[in-house]
Amino acid sequence: MNIHEYQAKEIFREIGVPVLQGKLAHSPEEALAAAKSIGGSVWVVKAQIHAGGRGKGGGVKVAKSLDDVKSLSTQIIGMNLVTPQTGPEGKKVQKVYIEQGCKIAKEYYAALFLDRNKSKVSIMASSEGGMDIEEVAEKHPEKIHHVTIEPSVGLQDYQARELAFKLGMKGKTALKAASLFTGLYKTYMSKDCAMIEINPLVTTEEGDVYALDAKVSFDDNSLFRHPQLAELRDVTEEEPSETEAGKYDLAFIKLDGNIGCLVNGAGLAMATMDIIKLHGGAPANFLDVGGGANKEKVTAAFKIILKDPNVKGILVNIFGGIMKCDIIAEGVVAASKEVGLKVPLVVRLEGTNVDLGKKILSESGLNITPADDLTDAAKKITAAVKGGK
Ligand code: ADP
Ligand code: MG
Repeated sequence: MNIHEYQAKEIFREIGVPVLQGKLAHSPEEALAAAKSIGGSVWVVKAQIHAGGRGKGGGVKVAKSLDDVKSLSTQIIGMNLVTPQTGPEGKKVQKVYIEQGCKIAKEYYAALFLDRNKSKVSIMASSEGGMDIEEVAEKHPEKIHHVTIEPSVGLQDYQARELAFKLGMKGKTALKAASLFTGLYKTYMSKDCAMIEINPLVTTEEGDVYALDAKVSFDDNSLFRHPQLAELRDVTEEEPSETEAGKYDLAFIKLDGNIGCLVNGAGLAMATMDIIKLHGGAPANFLDVGGGANKEKVTAAFKIILKDPNVKGILVNIFGGIMKCDIIAEGVVAASKEVGLKVPLVVRLEGTNVDLGKKILSESGLNITPADDLTDAAKKITAAVKGGK
């Protein structure tokens, strides 16, 4: 689960990660009041959407007077913000964060994430802030520094200091950065984060260090332990079909293709997407209904696929191990009758109760193309989708 910059910074403030003063505003009037209460003479108006690259799209602007704060907020609130991360359709801005402006001396990059190769939390930091980290990794891998954290002892002070020195910081500034890293690690662990990305982390002309941007996401599997974090969810920022899928505990991710996939098991779902691609098609979603799915869950899943206007054909690929084929068949039939099935449907069923499943499908009166195996299924659905164009 992702949260907004202003929410992440509230958490940082609580834990003691240094951030500048800031306030959320839903209207230009609120923005003006926020700037007045923050004080000073320079503010930054920042669009709050769940996507990075806001600056490039015109969603982060410096205001040098209170009049500027008002006019820039008027401009940004309600705008359709397109950034490299929103996709071409962009995101409508509902609120802005008014933040105290600072005099940046240098921009850095820092991220905390779970290094799956080492099974440990790691910090990755670079002196090349502001740039895309992917680009730095490609062109200047020597400028990216890694710290691996031993879970039994946590981030050690010397590690945090060493990282600051490697980034080229000196004296008190380096110590401030080290304490910021310690605060980020504390945040990561205490809130069960999946990732924290600070781009940029800055040093100021006064020698201070701040997390100037904040991208924080939590491990969904641990949200039950943090009811106050679950409340930070902003569903208006999420893909509606994914929110709907979340209600039924389905592992669902919307993609750009036109072949809807209903599969059980994450591995089989990945293999299904691969084989669709191999035969020249493009999956419209990743969907794992899971092993313990009941008829309601399968119906909900199939409905989500049917409602996607991009879907020009559906492939149901089930290996009934724990999951029974007849349950899947019942779900497919129920959802098709409720929403209407207007696109070709190819079904490959195998495993427990397969004969009963096939019988339910063939007696349903629905136009279903059966497939013998994965390759056959992929060939049939890609051909059907191409033929329908
Ligand atoms: P995004 O990554 O979505 O573009 P950032 O929060 O990183 O948004 O802001 C973009 C740039 O704006 C930063 O790299 C920084 O140069 C500048 N900036 C952001 N906040 C402030 C601030 N409070 N004071 C001064 N400059 C800022
Ligand atoms: Mg940024």
